[in-house]
Amino acid sequence: MALALRLDATGNGALGENVRLFPGRPAASAQPRQRILLSPPQLAGGELASLDHTLAAGWIAPAGPVPEAFEEAVRAATGTEYGLATSSGTAALHLGYRVLGVERGDEVWTSTLTFVASIAPAVQMGARPRFLDAAAESWTLDPEILESRLRQAATKGKLPRAVVPVDLYGQSCDLDVIVGLCGRWGVPVLCDSAEALGAEYRGRPVGKGAALAAFSFNGNKIVTAGGGGALVSDDAALVARARHLATQAKESAPHYQHETTGYSYGLSSVLAAVGLAQIGALKDRVAARRATFARYALRLSDLPGLGFMPEPGWGRSSRWLTTMLIDPARFGATREQLRKALDEAGVESRPVWKPLHLQPAFRGAPFHGGGISGQLFDRGLCLPSGAMTPEEQDRVIDTIRACCRG
Ligand SMILES: *Cc1c(COP(=O)(O)O)cnc(C)c1O
Repeated sequence: MALALRLDATGNGALGENVRLFPGRPAASAQPRQRILLSPPQLAGGELASLDHTLAAGWIAPAGPVPEAFEEAVRAATGTEYGLATSSGTAALHLGYRVLGVERGDEVWTSTLTFVASIAPAVQMGARPRFLDAAAESWTLDPEILESRLRQAATKGKLPRAVVPVDLYGQSCDLDVIVGLCGRWGVPVLCDSAEALGAEYRGRPVGKGAALAAFSFNGNKIVTAGGGGALVSDDAALVARARHLATQAKESAPHYQHETTGYSYGLSSVLAAVGLAQIGALKDRVAARRATFARYALRLSDLPGLGFMPEPGWGRSSRWLTTMLIDPARFGATREQLRKALDEAGVESRPVWKPLHLQPAFRGAPFHGGGISGQLFDRGLCLPSGAMTPEEQDRVIDTIRACCRG
């Protein structure tokens, strides 16, 4: 029996149906119309050789030269001095919260328009989240709202333990402004850059300039290790502390000695080998995702009531996901009608992140801002943005065009 490797609906955690791990076995007969997924994992080509090399040398554990080489590659890609490879992006964020000293009862602030993993580890640690709205110009944390909240919090003596801006869908937040504001009150910034590896902010890699930045190598991200993450910084002590905690906080003693408890958050050599083979393709993938975005924007530009995620002058987005806005009155269909029509045409699409302040899991948590994030959720749709043939992208485009009644 050939190993069954199938994609789930999110594109997470599995290889494409056209991927053959065992040469000589016939590939499953191609469906006449394969479902087009949002961001399925894509092989770079060197994975098997990298795995072969790693396993032949006997490297399997979450330590040793292969994770170290992967960390080196991540440091190079993110322009940072220090980096730790982790078992997931969420684990990297959790370690970030730990090394910033987040404790029960502390406040942690983030942009409401993000994936739950941005804040989940802090909440699990007993911190209290406060959600701030996104700015319309970038869909990322609004620095004006941040400034007014910091001012108020300072007068009450209740500053947050950490502020966590998010580089959304491949687009950098306005990091210098955010770091500058937080620095005024001594609040550290942990940047959730999980969706934006390969993107730039003011000519440098995203996340650089924050106290810490977290990246993800999950199956749906632009580069994958089959699962994995990284925590990077220019501060040696923070990363050394995170490394200590990621490996069960073992003190140096012949027996196991612990001053505190840690986690088992290392990245296996096997996954690091896959990540190493993938990360070399990063530049090409950013170019490909930007080209996919440009083709959507061009081929849909004449339709009324459609718009796309803006790209502010401060950065160069990786366009990890092409994200479109639908004005139902002008386009003639709602975001949900369009999503269903795409689904029927065999195309996966997904609403923009539901703002965290609207999630039942965070009921009662304070939110500050207007209705920007809520509107982006109501009207925003993420389109397939991974490797696609022009014919496949045309199927997405034609389906959208056929829905327009404007
Ligand atoms: C993917 C993602 C994460 C988590 O990464 P995992 O590797 O899946 O744990 C965190 N934050 C954001 C914004 C993400 O998109």
